[in-house]
Amino acid sequence: MTNLEQIADLERRYVLQTYNRFPVIFERGKGVFLYDLDGKKYLDLVSGIGVNALGYAHPRIVKTIRDQAARLVHISNLYYHEYQGPLAERLCALSGMQRAFFSNSGTEAIEGSIKLARLAGHRAGGAAKSRLIALEGSYHGRTFGALSLTGQDKHRKGFEPLLEDVTFVPRNDVEAGSIFAFRAFGVTPDIVAIAKPIAAGLPLGAFLAKEEFASAISPGQHGTTFGGGPLACRVALEYLAILEEENLLANVNKVGGYLTQQLQQLVEDYAAAKEVRGRGLIQGIELEIPSRPIVEQGIAQGVLFNSTHDTVVRFLPPFLLQEQHVDKGIRVLRKFLGRKRRRAA
Ligand SMILES: *Cc1c(COP(=O)(O)O)cnc(C)c1O
Repeated sequence: MTNLEQIADLERRYVLQTYNRFPVIFERGKGVFLYDLDGKKYLDLVSGIGVNALGYAHPRIVKTIRDQAARLVHISNLYYHEYQGPLAERLCALSGMQRAFFSNSGTEAIEGSIKLARLAGHRAGGAAKSRLIALEGSYHGRTFGALSLTGQDKHRKGFEPLLEDVTFVPRNDVEAGSIFAFRAFGVTPDIVAIAKPIAAGLPLGAFLAKEEFASAISPGQHGTTFGGGPLACRVALEYLAILEEENLLANVNKVGGYLTQQLQQLVEDYAAAKEVRGRGLIQGIELEIPSRPIVEQGIAQGVLFNSTHDTVVRFLPPFLLQEQHVDKGIRVLRKFLGRKRRRAA
């Protein structure tokens, strides 16, 4: 038996069957590339679902993890450590918010946000002020509160009853600009939940709140054992420093713009390509055909794409991506899009 068969077989027997994994075992990565157990190289346009913004084995992240692992990994929120305060200060400066709470994941950041919104709502308007509004088609995570706000039936089905008093509204187009995209709109949210790349691959989420909302909570009303530990917080500070010092947001805008052009070209060229959405390095191309087979064929060709909403090929590559990597991804994608559009002569 190959390694792949052995490992897949063990998981089939012992792991709760909630994932439909692709048949590949990754062993290591460097920059925007991953390597499987046989040493085959893959261009990564998924980045562990938007987590590996600095790609793999970034030397400064490796050094920070090594150093901190030898000092202190976990201490609990019973005590202070050196990094949670500075990270909260930095995130508040970047977002315009006033306080942070650290969790281990995005869905927990949403849970905390819901709790804080309820407390602030009740304080402002009494027990009746409890309604929640979320976007149609949205995704907020898998725990019960977050699931109640997720506007996609396929995720909710079978788990009812969920939280009551949730209203879904249609979405507008999303634009990006800075680390916090809302800053480009001139709006300031009351609470904002973040996660995915902020600790460069270590589990860390947070919600940030205006003082007016933050002051609704008291000690003992919310907490976590692991959230905001010294290792994750120190790595997050390093991540934010790297973003700035390596000028990575400028790269996201430049290469993201190039990706948009190349995807638009596919819509012009192929009957199966319908629409391009997103901006920067979070984009998707909606197809008339199922997207999962394309992801499978991409793996065989050494390029990782992601498939979402059954017919979308989603690009969420590391911020280090270069135009030549976009070219490679598009070249491979073209092979699977079928016939070209007939052009008017
Ligand atoms: C990923 C994600 C979540 C859930 O985060 P987890 O870390 O998987 O729990 C929630 N909302 C949005 C918008 C996300 O992208």
